[in-house]
Amino acid sequence: MFRYETHCHTSETSKCAVTPAKEFVRFFKSKGYDGVFITDHFFRANIVDIPEGYSWEQKVDVLLKGYENAKAEGDRIGLDVFLGWEFGYESLHLLTYGLDREWLLCNPDLIKLDYKQYCDRVHKSGGFIVNAHPFRAIKGVVRLLPYDSDAAEVINGANADNERSRIYAEMMGLPFTAGSDIHNIATKANLAGVLSETKFNSVYDYIDAVKKRRLQLFECKND
Ligand SMILES: [Zn+2]
Ligand SMILES: [Zn+2]
Repeated sequence: MFRYETHCHTSETSKCAVTPAKEFVRFFKSKGYDGVFITDHFFRANIVDIPEGYSWEQKVDVLLKGYENAKAEGDRIGLDVFLGWEFGYESLHLLTYGLDREWLLCNPDLIKLDYKQYCDRVHKSGGFIVNAHPFRAIKGVVRLLPYDSDAAEVINGANADNERSRIYAEMMGLPFTAGSDIHNIATKANLAGVLSETKFNSVYDYIDAVKKRRLQLFECKND
């Protein structure tokens, strides 16, 4: 089986992350993974500070810095690195896959969209949305988005009431995914991810496997 991390935050781009992209790639390689999706925090979420006066292109560079560094190291040592990001609005977090730098550059108004407009734009462009850690509350509030999500993260390694997430996904008929939501390789939080019988040659292979419910989910200790 091929093993993938689907939810990873690098210190280059995510303000709350500790481990740099290069170290993550070496870490996952050493653990026998075949690939990792870098899903740093999106604009207006927990992205690192962006200097005032930056152009849209420069902002996109900040968003993709962690991914680019991971990709370079992955190419060097032989680990597949794929692009995603995590849109955030209060406790609603949406992992987004299937779109790229070109798409970001062509959509400079993304930074102003509310979550509903964002989902519509992503879907119109062929992107895929995973309702991340659905039951992680902020100030006691959870925000679910069943009708605009394409799947739900039912195992989150940083633990976010995974049992309820699975019930939610089942109830709403959403396909399942799993990811560590890892910010620091030294963390004692569990690792989680997906196992596939076939190799992902692109992010679309992952999307397709989620949609067709062909993946096995796993969770294990990080030791
Ligand atoms: Zn999140
Ligand atoms: Zn996350």
